[in-house]
Amino acid sequence: MNARRVSLAIPVFNEEAVLPELFQRLTAVLDAIPGGPHEVVFVNDGSRDRSQAMLEEAAARDPRFVVVKFSRNFGHQAALSAALDHVSGDAVLTMDADLQDTPEVLPDLLARLDEGYDVVVVRRVERKESAWKRSAYHVAYRLIARMSDVPLGVDAGDFALLSRRVVDAMSALPERERYLRGLRAWVGFRQATVDVPRAARAAGETKYSLAKLLKLAMDGAFSFSVVPLRISAAIGFIAFSGALLFSLYAIYARVVLGQSPQGFTALFVAGTFLAGILLIALWIIGEYVGRIYAEVKRRPVYVVESVTGAGGRRGAR
Ligand code: UDP
Ligand code: MG
Repeated sequence: MNARRVSLAIPVFNEEAVLPELFQRLTAVLDAIPGGPHEVVFVNDGSRDRSQAMLEEAAARDPRFVVVKFSRNFGHQAALSAALDHVSGDAVLTMDADLQDTPEVLPDLLARLDEGYDVVVVRRVERKESAWKRSAYHVAYRLIARMSDVPLGVDAGDFALLSRRVVDAMSALPERERYLRGLRAWVGFRQATVDVPRAARAAGETKYSLAKLLKLAMDGAFSFSVVPLRISAAIGFIAFSGALLFSLYAIYARVVLGQSPQGFTALFVAGTFLAGILLIALWIIGEYVGRIYAEVKRRPVYVVESVTGAGGRRGAR
């Protein structure tokens, strides 16, 4: 067990403000872990600041550091996928660069792995974000987990320790739209959960725009479930039942009461309501069609421009 090599997989996008502290804390953590040589695979996801220069400098100083540079910004999940494709260790820690995922918990996670688990997922407790963001996360995690076909843990992100066979299984999955925490749940094996308070970002600002965050939530909702399709069916049935009841009432009113229901407003509301439902249903179908389109094009998930450092042993997807 002690000859084990640990790899850290870290996506980096415009993180120049946080990198010095990251290097320092990673070095301290890795130095204290038995086994090795360990490795850190940074994937520079098309940063436009000094990140690449700083990463290369660090890789020149420390032979454990590997830098995979993307040809442009492909997004966090693509960057993390690339990191998983390039790591060579026996156990792999996936974490954010901004130190919201505290690397100091690694020994605790490794201890769980030694108990026979293949995946140790960190559940985020005590978030430090703004109140509205916290509640949005709270609702989104539960909604997505509710709909999902695979047992997605709530409040669990990409911070996790994975065994080699889990990394291999995840890397082998061919899909392009990668919702990694879903794929991680999907591959199975024994999965444990550990509660760790979520730190605040150590420096710099969030690199996840609202649009990127929404995209991630939609991937979670649509990539692991056909429940949204059923929801539109359910709404359709409800609307149809309403229409049926109303037409029965209309017949009753005409025949028994001797007067037909009147009113332009009711007509207008019913018309726009139905059109709205139809457009929403169309959008839901469109989400799936768009995903099918992305998959059948079979474009790679990312394009690597260069690999710096001792590693880079494994090929790209
Ligand atoms: N990130 C990335 N590509 C992107 C956006 C973010 O590689 O397009 C990285 C970022 O550098 C960080 C991680 O993904 O290591 C999480 O991003 P961030 O901390 O900004 O997101 P938040 O924690 O605010 O949701
Ligand atoms: Mg963060």
